[in-house]
Order: sequence, then C-alpha cells, then structure tokens
Amino acid sequence: MYRITVFRGDGIGVEVAEQAIKVVRKLGEKHHLVFEIEEALIGGVSIDKHGVPVTPEALKQAKESDAVFLGAVGGPKWDGLESSKRPEKGLLSLRRELGAYANLRPVRVFGDLAKKSTLKEEIVSGIDFVIVRELTGGIYFGEPRGIFVLPDGRGEQGINTEVYTTPEIERIAEKAFECARRRKRRLTSVDKANVLESSQLWRKVVEEVHKRYPDVTLDHRYVDDCAMQLIREPKQFDVILTNNMFGDILSDEAAMLTGSIGMLASASVGDHCALYEPVHGSAPDIAGKDIANPLASILSVAMMMEHSFNLLELSQSVENAVEKTLGDGFRSADIYQEGMRQVGCSEMGDLIVERIA
Ligand code: NAD
Repeated sequence: MYRITVFRGDGIGVEVAEQAIKVVRKLGEKHHLVFEIEEALIGGVSIDKHGVPVTPEALKQAKESDAVFLGAVGGPKWDGLESSKRPEKGLLSLRRELGAYANLRPVRVFGDLAKKSTLKEEIVSGIDFVIVRELTGGIYFGEPRGIFVLPDGRGEQGINTEVYTTPEIERIAEKAFECARRRKRRLTSVDKANVLESSQLWRKVVEEVHKRYPDVTLDHRYVDDCAMQLIREPKQFDVILTNNMFGDILSDEAAMLTGSIGMLASASVGDHCALYEPVHGSAPDIAGKDIANPLASILSVAMMMEHSFNLLELSQSVENAVEKTLGDGFRSADIYQEGMRQVGCSEMGDLIVERIA
C-alpha cells in the first residue's frame, strides 16, 4: 500500500489535483495496487479554516506519507496578508518539513507542441532534459542578509550571501548523477566559478562526486553560457545540475521552450518523502472555469510513480497516455492549435484515464 497526501490548495490547484487523483485511482485499479489518498489543507483554504497557511497536523500527515502531491496555492483574496501569514508560506513550510533540497524539473516537448513555442519548431521539437536545482541553500537563505544603514549615513546597503557547504553540494550532486544514470548519462554542472568562490567549491565537490559515477559524462558550464545555450541548442542537454538561484532563473527560461507552463511537472526530493507539484501557480484568472491544463499535474503523478515508488511501468504508461491524447488532437485552451479539439480540464483528465486503460 502507498499512502499519498494530496493538498489541492487554491484556485486551479483544486481542479488539476482532481485530475491527478483520477489518474492515481486508475493506475491502482489497473495494476491491483492500493494507493491510499488522504487530503489535507494548505494555502488560502487553510488560512480560511484554521487561520494559518498550514497546520502542524497537516505537516505531520505529509511527513508520514509515502509521497505528497500539491496543486497550487495563493490568490488575490490573501494577497494583503503579511508574508509570514500568506498562502505561499505554507508551501515553504512543507518543503522545509520534508527536507526537500532537490528540485527535479523535466523539460520535455510532447508531440507537436513545439509549434506553440516562441522559438523555431526545429530548435525545440524533441527537447527532453531535466534541471536538478538545489532548493534549500545558497543566496536565498545565506546569512548575513538584510538592508543596513551605511555607517557614514549616506544611505543604505542591501546584503545577501551565497553560501554552500561540502555536504550540501555532495547530496544534490548525488541526486543529479543518479538522475543522469536513469537517462542518457550526461550531466552538465552550471556555476559561475570564474567569479564566485562558492561556485569554485561547487565545481570541486561535483568533480569529487563524479569519481563515484564514472559511467556518467560530466561537463561544466558558466551560467551565462548555459542561459545562451538553452536558447541556441537546447537539445544538447540531458541533466543540468545547478544551485538555487541559477536554477530558479534557468528553469523558468527552459519552461518557455515547451509551449505552456501548464505542461511542466516537478518533484522536490530530499530527506523524507518527496513532494510532487505542477510548476504553475493557482491561476486566479482562470480558476473555477474548468479550462486549466491538468497535464503538468498528471505528469507529476508519473514522476511520483517513478521516483517515490519505483513503478517505472506505471510512470511510462502515464507519459504514453499524455503523448497519445495530444497525438489524438485534444488540447486544453493554453496549448490549443487550429484544427485540434479544445477540451476542458476535467475532460482532459478523463481522456488520459481512458488511454491509461
Ligand atoms: P500562475 O502560474 O498561477 O499563472 C500565470 C499564467 O499562466 C496565468 O495567465 C495563468 O492563467 C496561466 N496558467 C497557469 N497554469 C495554467 C494551467 N495549468 N493551464 C492553463 N494556464 C495556466 O502564476 P501567477 O499568476 O504569477 O500567480 C497566481 C497565484 O499563484 C499567486 O498567488 C502566486 O503567489 C501563486 N503561485 C503559486 C505557486 C505554487 O503553488 N507552487 C507557484 C507560482 C505562483
């Protein structure tokens, strides 16, 4: 039996999570496996009910599960709250509680969706790589940080600190090498070692870890070069390993290669059970209309089957169902192309379930 905690969250999170649940149920039924789904509240809905973005009980439940799925959090109703009380704080608490230090974000162009990209079709069609981003260290968390008055009184200075330790780099590098081993065995580590000492240490530790993965080819790139290469020739990449800030920026850049944010799945893995979520937010502009694209959520279920449960056949069957549904000409509004049939969020979920069967 596999225990999954589902946080639907807010906005379209509710609708896309419903489609993810349908897919999990279908996989269980088809393969005679028990997936026990327990729901819990996070984000705005939790604020409304409990006064906090996530309760200690919900965090405990998540930590004790075998995997966690999250739709999305946030919305204009809660935008006025101070940052420690906002819906997004619930997500940060959940990631911290799960010790989720590695964010895996596959970037893949399904079927002929290359036509929806802002780049030339031949550059993006067939793209298939993964970005492994360090999620709990680096400049977003380093101390000292803050805005301080200058001693001479001529204004202020804003300070942030990029810090990485050997153990932090080792554990994320191991995740990236493991990921490369499951793929084409090519790892590109991205840093700024020509300028930053934290990157020089990063490079040194990645080289050390590489000795344990001699079957994986490693190369290093500076982040500015990588940003350029992602647009010039994205198909050269298999697995990209990078720190928190570079990963934040490069993964959004890479997301745009695929045509729509509604297609991008993610897994955040670490010390405890992993967290699976679509990359997009709660999309208040389309919430409640049944027009959101649920494929990012459904592909996050495929990642869960592979990474948390090692059920590779099930993971593959979900990806195949997505490929087939798109190949059959069904499209949600965000990826609609002329001549295709536009379907809503819930119908897209049903079409995937049919094709898994
Ligand atoms: P967003 O991702 O919610 O939406 C950006 C744009 O993409 C919108 O036009 C939206 O309609 C569209 N879009 C997003 N997902 C889609 C899907 N599945 N299908 C079709 N179209 C889709 O980002 P935003 O507008 O910047 O943020 C809205 C709220 O979501 C904010 O409160 C923000 O804080 C929150 N947010 C949450 C998460 C999360 O829960 N992981 C991530 C990002 C933003």
